[in-house]
Amino acid sequence: MAPGDPAGFEVRLGMLVTDPATRILRVNQAFTEITGFTAEDVVGQTPHFLQSGNYEKSFYAALWAAIKQKGSWEGELWGKRKNGETHPRWVSITAVKDEQGTLTNYVASFLDLEERRYAEELINRLAFTDQLTGLPNRRLLIDRLRQAEVANARTGNYGAVILLDLDNFKSLNDTQGHAAGDCLLQQVGQRLVARVRESDTVARLGGDEFVVMLPALEAKTLEEVAWDVETLGRNLLADLAQPYALPGGTFSCQASLGVTLFTGAGLAIEDLLRQAEMAMYQSKSAGKSRLTFFDPDMERAVINHAQMSRDLLLALHHGQFELFFQPQVAGDSGRILGAEALVRWRHPQRGLVSPGEFIPQIESSGLILPVGQWVLETACEHLARWGTHPEMAHLTLAVNVSARQFQAPDFARLVETALTRSGADPRRLKLELTESAFAQDPENIIGVMGQIRTLGVRFALDDFGTGYSSLSYLCRLPLNQLKIDRSFVSQIESGDNNVVICAATISLAHSLKLRVVAEGVETDAQQYFLSAVHRCDLLQGYLYSPPLPLPAFEALFLDKSPATGGNRPGFLSPRPGR
Ligand code: C2E
Ligand code: CA
Ligand code: CA
Repeated sequence: MAPGDPAGFEVRLGMLVTDPATRILRVNQAFTEITGFTAEDVVGQTPHFLQSGNYEKSFYAALWAAIKQKGSWEGELWGKRKNGETHPRWVSITAVKDEQGTLTNYVASFLDLEERRYAEELINRLAFTDQLTGLPNRRLLIDRLRQAEVANARTGNYGAVILLDLDNFKSLNDTQGHAAGDCLLQQVGQRLVARVRESDTVARLGGDEFVVMLPALEAKTLEEVAWDVETLGRNLLADLAQPYALPGGTFSCQASLGVTLFTGAGLAIEDLLRQAEMAMYQSKSAGKSRLTFFDPDMERAVINHAQMSRDLLLALHHGQFELFFQPQVAGDSGRILGAEALVRWRHPQRGLVSPGEFIPQIESSGLILPVGQWVLETACEHLARWGTHPEMAHLTLAVNVSARQFQAPDFARLVETALTRSGADPRRLKLELTESAFAQDPENIIGVMGQIRTLGVRFALDDFGTGYSSLSYLCRLPLNQLKIDRSFVSQIESGDNNVVICAATISLAHSLKLRVVAEGVETDAQQYFLSAVHRCDLLQGYLYSPPLPLPAFEALFLDKSPATGGNRPGFLSPRPGR
């Protein structure tokens, strides 16, 4: 049997007829098209000229023996064209006999396998692969996912779908042009393929969205499977974060990953992909270059997300943002030396919403720029006003700044304008940024910090210890202060490594001439360890005060009101019961 014809594609069938002595009597048009030989070239000859020279004499002997014995032969046979090229053909040769059983003719038919394969390949390529990267497309991915589900139903294995989306592809495309964008996508595809096993599928869904599909993670527990996939995901993130060489120069780019696992338990394939996509969006809003697993709660979160985006935009226009102030006190004397400004959203229905719930969202939507600007300007106005009160003139005010704000091209100028407009003393303003701000384009960030430093503004490194703190880095940053992350402080009493980390951070910072703030101080024991034993400069936390609305904060200095809780104005002592 000849292989079946590819659907919808017309295949040429070459034919030739010989007499019993194998001299050619006739050939058809397809024969000429395939071999290049015309009827005039070949009639009267034996078909030796069609032989490729690839086979031993014994091969042809066996072929003819089969025809003599069974009346026919069929198989793949390399042949030669008139121009000397050899190519594979599917040949069938039949001996034709008359009623008396006398041999009258041989009829040979053949398909050009190269043409067939080419046609099949072309059809496959168009239908199932992405033209730009040569990777499987969405259709082929869905096909393979379906197969994997069927197989896993039998074996009980888990499979995984990892959806990847590049974080700043659009900006590359906009600034460097589509050729650079295409080149990036091709390199991304290559890196993904290089990382996974051959049995895995790397597909491009379109745009800057890719999928890595692991069909079967051998029968293990869910936790082990999740761990394996997470490890692979981290490796993929690291691979993709390496710089890319593009026509316009090198480019750095990160990705957000969303993961969902599947067994044979028949979830529609489109739903699987949608799950991975939701998880991926979760990664994006959580700060990029991340990996998130899908779980059903996420679905609800996504719906709320859209509603919240609208509400947040309105919040800015309706003045629903508010600053709270958390005192920072000298650990030894209890004197309030400054405060951290922490934004709140006064939602008309939900009441006070904490920044943990909306900062990640406004960061990913870009709304952080106007909101951050509002925070900065408002903070400067308060600072300027405090400067006119002798009781408060010494205060510094720390303002949290997102990486996104720092990356805005005119950030240094915005800071300068906020200061000059308000008349605040630049030396009293402190900008807090986290280590993650340096993950992307650190040289640029350091440059911007330098510009802002010349205005007199100071910098604190927030959440120290939670990011990729590297010592060599720390020395290069124009910092004035380190903030030990709450997670270390809260573990002081448990007595493990965190104690060592806190102590080492304080002495490291002091050796670099940096001041140290411990945040999240809640107990007397923490206060004693940090301040009395290790000479931490400033303490901030519920032990002294939660973040306060402006009037309550100012009352700590200016008022004889009950809000001071019996403290001397401008001082705080640990609150009883802590
Ligand atoms: P952060 O900068 O690390 O701020 C400290 C957080 O710890 C604040 O949460 C504060 O209320 C909380 N905290 C203070 N003392 C204690 C304590 O003793 N125990 C415990 N458990 N927590 C304490 P908050 O106000 O919810 O802010 C959360 C995060 O939101 C901040 O973390 C900061 O990263 C971000 N954020 C707040 N305001 C702004 C802002 O204006 N701009 C930007 N970009 N981010 C902001
Ligand atoms: Ca902070
Ligand atoms: Ca912090």
